[in-house]
Amino acid sequence: MVRFTVLASGSKGNSAVVSGGRTRILVDCGLSCRELFRRMRLVGEEPETLDAIVITHEHMDHVNGLAVTARKLGIPVYFTEATYRAWMRWLTPRRQMTYAQWLEQCRKLAAERQAEAEAAQACEQDEQDTEIQLENVAAEAETLLADGEAQTAPEGPPSRKQDPTWLPAVEYFQAGEAFEIGDIGVSPFTIPHDAADPVGFVFRAEGVRVACATDLGYIPPNVKAQLKGVDLLLIESNHDLEMLRDGPYPWSVKQRVLSRVGHLSNEATADYLEKVYDGQAAYVILAHLSESNNLPELARVTAERALNGRASLLANRLLLAAQHEPLSPISF
Ligand SMILES: [Zn+2]
Ligand SMILES: [Zn+2]
Repeated sequence: MVRFTVLASGSKGNSAVVSGGRTRILVDCGLSCRELFRRMRLVGEEPETLDAIVITHEHMDHVNGLAVTARKLGIPVYFTEATYRAWMRWLTPRRQMTYAQWLEQCRKLAAERQAEAEAAQACEQDEQDTEIQLENVAAEAETLLADGEAQTAPEGPPSRKQDPTWLPAVEYFQAGEAFEIGDIGVSPFTIPHDAADPVGFVFRAEGVRVACATDLGYIPPNVKAQLKGVDLLLIESNHDLEMLRDGPYPWSVKQRVLSRVGHLSNEATADYLEKVYDGQAAYVILAHLSESNNLPELARVTAERALNGRASLLANRLLLAAQHEPLSPISF
């Protein structure tokens, strides 16, 4: 059985679970670990049975609870390399320190590493390496001093406990290259959005195809191609154009949302549903609705109008994903 459950959708957090065969994947991790687990249990999903987490992009509403959740479950996280790096940069505090402070930190870290190595009864070579590393660090510092950059010396690598970016395992994928996680096939595709390397996904299991496409400024040809013939379509319906125009956001934010790398409006999604969508999905889920610039009923009516204009599409069930409560699981 293939099952798909939206746990949260919107600018305050996004997460869904896709299950097929013996595999369960968490798609994005935008809720705190505690809230994620609470919602999973509410809909009969066991957090402990998750096998992996896949990430669409590094925006906060998609990764907020990522490190804590992955550590708690001890499961791998799949990113594109650029997204992983952007996520790490976002989590790594940029502190300014003096040369003396920096050297002291490097010494401490080297000592920590040495202690760890000794505790693990590491071989002599390791100890030599540690010493060499310490010398290298000092040499590097001298060079920086000579270059006049010592006041903004880079941080040494933090230890595992302090490191907010530490994950049990990281796996890279690339947009356009399908891969497998257990019994589920995953096809990531590029979407136009203002993040490092954002993707949508099509998941395949037991002959069922589930597509997730949110956080995109428009629907380019590659995305249209990916969304063909899917059994479940989760698609963004972020804002009502008029509500956004007259709404509370500052002009610069409105421009960002409306841009080609922003978010899909109700109208843009309706246009896609009317003119391009093939009507194959048993379920269409409208997602990532803005709480400031949209109303669920408005999104629903706009999409319904677009779908009902085509008689052959009446079998589609239209659902709305919510920010504050999970949707009932959908099974195939
Ligand atoms: Zn988002
Ligand atoms: Zn985003």
